[in-house]
Amino acid sequence: MKGLTGQDFQRLSVIYTKEGNRFLSKLSSIDSLPVIFEKLMTRAKILQPDLILGDTILGLTLEILSQHQIKGLILDVDDTLVPLQETTVSDDLQRWVDSLRLYLPIWLVSNNLSENRIGAIADNLQLPYLLGAVKPSRRKLRQAMTAMVLPPQQIAMVGDRLFTDVLAGNRLGMFTILVKPMVNPLTGGQAYPIHDFEVWVSQILGVSLHPQHYLIKPDQSSQK
Ligand SMILES: [Mg+2]
Repeated sequence: MKGLTGQDFQRLSVIYTKEGNRFLSKLSSIDSLPVIFEKLMTRAKILQPDLILGDTILGLTLEILSQHQIKGLILDVDDTLVPLQETTVSDDLQRWVDSLRLYLPIWLVSNNLSENRIGAIADNLQLPYLLGAVKPSRRKLRQAMTAMVLPPQQIAMVGDRLFTDVLAGNRLGMFTILVKPMVNPLTGGQAYPIHDFEVWVSQILGVSLHPQHYLIKPDQSSQK
Protein backbone atom coordinates (compact mmCIF):
# COMPACT_ATOMS: atom_id res chain seq x y z
CA MET A 1 0.00 0.00 0.00
CA LYS A 2 1.62 3.22 -1.17
CA GLY A 3 2.05 6.10 1.25
CA LEU A 4 1.42 3.95 4.32
CA THR A 5 4.28 4.03 6.80
CA GLY A 6 4.87 2.22 10.07
CA GLN A 7 4.58 5.58 11.79
CA ASP A 8 1.11 6.08 10.26
CA PHE A 9 -0.03 2.67 11.45
CA GLN A 10 1.27 3.36 14.94
CA ARG A 11 -0.40 6.75 15.11
CA LEU A 12 -3.72 5.44 13.83
CA SER A 13 -3.74 2.52 16.22
CA VAL A 14 -3.14 4.87 19.17
CA ILE A 15 -5.98 7.17 18.10
CA TYR A 16 -8.42 4.37 17.40
CA THR A 17 -7.56 2.45 20.56
CA LYS A 18 -8.08 5.54 22.71
CA GLU A 19 -11.38 6.39 21.01
CA GLY A 20 -12.49 2.76 21.14
CA ASN A 21 -11.75 2.53 24.86
CA ARG A 22 -13.60 5.77 25.57
CA PHE A 23 -16.56 4.54 23.56
CA LEU A 24 -16.65 1.18 25.36
CA SER A 25 -16.45 2.83 28.78
CA LYS A 26 -19.39 5.04 27.84
CA LEU A 27 -21.28 2.05 26.51
CA SER A 28 -20.97 0.29 29.86
CA SER A 29 -22.04 3.33 31.89
CA ILE A 30 -24.88 4.58 29.68
CA ASP A 31 -27.68 2.23 28.74
CA SER A 32 -29.44 4.54 26.33
CA LEU A 33 -28.31 3.95 22.75
CA PRO A 34 -29.72 7.24 21.38
CA VAL A 35 -27.65 9.14 23.95
CA ILE A 36 -24.49 7.25 22.96
CA PHE A 37 -25.15 7.88 19.29
CA GLU A 38 -25.80 11.57 19.88
CA LYS A 39 -22.55 11.92 21.86
CA LEU A 40 -20.62 10.19 19.09
CA MET A 41 -22.10 12.50 16.47
CA THR A 42 -21.29 15.54 18.61
CA ARG A 43 -17.70 14.41 18.91
CA ALA A 44 -17.51 13.92 15.14
CA LYS A 45 -18.03 17.66 14.60
CA ILE A 46 -14.41 18.12 15.63
CA LEU A 47 -13.52 16.35 12.35
CA GLN A 48 -15.63 18.68 10.21
CA PRO A 49 -13.53 20.97 7.99
CA ASP A 50 -14.78 24.55 7.66
CA LEU A 51 -14.02 24.39 3.97
CA ILE A 52 -13.60 21.46 1.58
CA LEU A 53 -11.73 22.74 -1.40
CA GLY A 54 -12.32 19.90 -3.87
CA ASP A 55 -8.92 20.74 -5.37
CA THR A 56 -5.27 20.61 -4.38
CA ILE A 57 -3.88 23.52 -2.37
CA LEU A 58 -3.09 25.27 -5.66
CA GLY A 59 -6.83 25.99 -5.94
CA LEU A 60 -6.79 27.99 -2.70
CA THR A 61 -6.90 31.65 -3.70
CA LEU A 62 -6.45 34.92 -1.87
CA GLU A 63 -10.11 35.65 -2.66
CA ILE A 64 -11.27 32.52 -0.82
CA LEU A 65 -9.03 33.34 2.15
CA SER A 66 -10.22 36.95 2.26
CA GLN A 67 -13.81 35.79 2.11
CA HIS A 68 -13.23 33.96 5.41
CA GLN A 69 -11.13 36.73 7.01
CA ILE A 70 -8.02 34.54 7.05
CA LYS A 71 -4.85 36.46 7.96
CA GLY A 72 -2.38 33.59 8.35
CA LEU A 73 -1.75 30.10 6.99
CA ILE A 74 -0.43 26.92 8.55
CA LEU A 75 0.26 24.30 5.90
CA ASP A 76 0.74 20.58 6.14
CA VAL A 77 3.62 19.43 3.92
CA ASP A 78 3.44 15.74 2.90
CA ASP A 79 0.85 15.20 0.16
CA THR A 80 -0.53 18.71 0.75
CA LEU A 81 2.39 20.61 -0.80
CA VAL A 82 4.63 17.85 -2.16
CA PRO A 83 3.65 14.21 -2.85
CA LEU A 84 5.26 11.92 -0.27
CA GLN A 85 7.35 10.21 -2.95
CA GLU A 86 8.59 13.53 -4.32
CA THR A 87 11.32 15.70 -2.88
CA THR A 88 11.24 18.75 -5.11
CA VAL A 89 8.96 21.74 -4.99
CA SER A 90 7.02 22.24 -8.22
CA ASP A 91 7.10 25.55 -10.08
CA ASP A 92 3.34 25.80 -9.62
CA LEU A 93 3.70 25.47 -5.87
CA GLN A 94 6.52 28.02 -5.77
CA ARG A 95 4.36 30.49 -7.70
CA TRP A 96 1.39 29.81 -5.42
CA VAL A 97 3.45 30.49 -2.28
CA ASP A 98 5.01 33.62 -3.82
CA SER A 99 1.56 34.98 -4.72
CA LEU A 100 0.28 34.63 -1.15
CA ARG A 101 3.34 35.42 0.99
CA LEU A 102 2.98 39.11 0.18
CA TYR A 103 -0.32 39.17 2.04
CA LEU A 104 -0.12 36.51 4.77
CA PRO A 105 2.40 34.87 7.10
CA ILE A 106 2.79 31.20 6.11
CA TRP A 107 4.17 28.44 8.34
CA LEU A 108 4.79 24.79 7.54
CA VAL A 109 3.86 22.34 10.31
CA SER A 110 4.61 18.71 9.51
CA ASN A 111 4.31 15.42 11.36
CA ASN A 112 7.30 14.22 9.37
CA LEU A 113 10.47 13.88 11.45
CA SER A 114 12.87 14.26 8.53
CA GLU A 115 14.87 17.48 8.78
CA ASN A 116 16.34 16.60 5.36
CA ARG A 117 12.99 16.43 3.61
CA ILE A 118 10.95 19.11 5.36
CA GLY A 119 13.90 21.44 5.85
CA ALA A 120 14.75 21.27 2.13
CA ILE A 121 11.16 21.93 1.07
CA ALA A 122 10.89 24.84 3.52
CA ASP A 123 14.23 26.27 2.36
CA ASN A 124 13.12 26.09 -1.27
CA LEU A 125 9.90 27.87 -0.45
CA GLN A 126 11.68 30.18 2.04
CA LEU A 127 9.11 29.50 4.73
CA PRO A 128 9.46 28.88 8.48
CA TYR A 129 8.72 25.31 9.53
CA LEU A 130 8.15 22.96 12.46
CA LEU A 131 8.85 19.22 12.36
CA GLY A 132 7.45 16.25 14.28
CA ALA A 133 4.22 18.02 15.12
CA VAL A 134 2.34 14.80 16.03
CA LYS A 135 -0.92 16.32 14.78
CA PRO A 136 -3.65 16.04 16.07
CA SER A 137 -1.52 17.41 18.91
CA ARG A 138 -1.98 21.18 19.22
CA ARG A 139 1.49 22.01 20.51
CA LYS A 140 3.34 22.98 17.31
CA LEU A 141 0.28 24.59 15.75
CA ARG A 142 0.07 26.76 18.84
CA GLN A 143 3.76 27.59 18.45
CA ALA A 144 3.20 28.77 14.85
CA MET A 145 0.10 30.69 15.93
CA THR A 146 2.07 32.48 18.66
CA ALA A 147 4.74 33.43 16.10
CA MET A 148 2.07 34.89 13.80
CA VAL A 149 0.46 36.86 16.64
CA LEU A 150 -3.02 36.12 15.30
CA PRO A 151 -6.16 34.72 16.93
CA PRO A 152 -6.91 31.11 15.90
CA GLN A 153 -10.05 31.99 13.94
CA GLN A 154 -7.94 34.15 11.59
CA ILE A 155 -5.57 31.28 10.86
CA ALA A 156 -6.35 28.59 8.30
CA MET A 157 -4.93 25.14 8.96
CA VAL A 158 -4.67 23.57 5.53
CA GLY A 159 -4.06 19.87 4.99
CA ASP A 160 -5.06 16.67 3.24
CA ARG A 161 -5.89 14.63 6.36
CA LEU A 162 -8.95 14.71 8.58
CA PHE A 163 -7.57 12.90 11.64
CA THR A 164 -4.38 14.96 11.82
CA ASP A 165 -4.60 18.35 10.08
CA VAL A 166 -8.32 19.09 10.42
CA LEU A 167 -8.62 17.61 13.90
CA ALA A 168 -5.60 19.57 15.18
CA GLY A 169 -6.84 22.85 13.65
CA ASN A 170 -10.38 22.40 14.95
CA ARG A 171 -9.10 21.61 18.44
CA LEU A 172 -7.54 25.08 18.52
CA GLY A 173 -10.52 26.84 16.92
CA MET A 174 -8.68 27.55 13.68
CA PHE A 175 -10.39 27.71 10.29
CA THR A 176 -9.76 24.29 8.78
CA ILE A 177 -9.43 23.61 5.07
CA LEU A 178 -9.31 20.09 3.61
CA VAL A 179 -7.52 19.88 0.28
CA LYS A 180 -7.02 17.02 -2.14
CA PRO A 181 -3.64 15.27 -1.85
CA MET A 182 -1.07 16.57 -4.33
CA VAL A 183 -0.80 14.11 -7.21
CA ASN A 184 2.57 12.75 -8.18
CA PRO A 185 2.96 13.66 -11.88
CA LEU A 186 4.90 10.45 -12.53
CA THR A 187 2.58 7.93 -10.92
CA GLY A 188 -0.66 9.81 -11.55
CA GLY A 189 -3.69 8.65 -9.59
CA GLN A 190 -1.98 6.92 -6.69
CA ALA A 191 -3.81 5.33 -3.77
CA TYR A 192 -4.26 7.14 -0.45
CA PRO A 193 -5.52 4.33 1.81
CA ILE A 194 -5.31 6.21 5.14
CA HIS A 195 -6.87 9.30 3.60
CA ASP A 196 -9.71 7.21 2.15
CA PHE A 197 -10.22 5.34 5.42
CA GLU A 198 -10.50 8.60 7.37
CA VAL A 199 -13.02 9.96 4.88
CA TRP A 200 -15.05 6.75 5.18
CA VAL A 201 -15.09 6.76 9.02
CA SER A 202 -15.84 10.49 9.16
CA GLN A 203 -18.76 10.21 6.78
CA ILE A 204 -20.24 7.40 8.87
CA LEU A 205 -19.96 9.75 11.86
CA GLY A 206 -21.91 12.42 9.97
CA VAL A 207 -19.11 14.66 8.71
CA SER A 208 -20.09 16.39 5.47
CA LEU A 209 -17.30 16.14 2.89
CA HIS A 210 -18.82 17.43 -0.32
CA PRO A 211 -16.43 19.85 -2.02
CA GLN A 212 -17.72 23.36 -1.44
CA HIS A 213 -16.23 26.81 -1.54
CA TYR A 214 -18.42 28.19 1.19
CA LEU A 215 -18.66 27.90 4.94
CA ILE A 216 -19.73 24.45 6.11
CA LYS A 217 -20.17 25.30 9.78
CA PRO A 218 -22.56 28.30 9.75
CA ASP A 219 -23.14 27.87 13.52
CA GLN A 220 -19.50 28.86 14.13
CA SER A 221 -19.29 31.70 11.62
CA SER A 222 -20.80 34.17 14.04
CA GLN A 223 -18.11 33.38 16.60
CA LYS A 224 -15.27 33.70 14.12
MG1 LIG B 1 -0.38 15.35 4.68
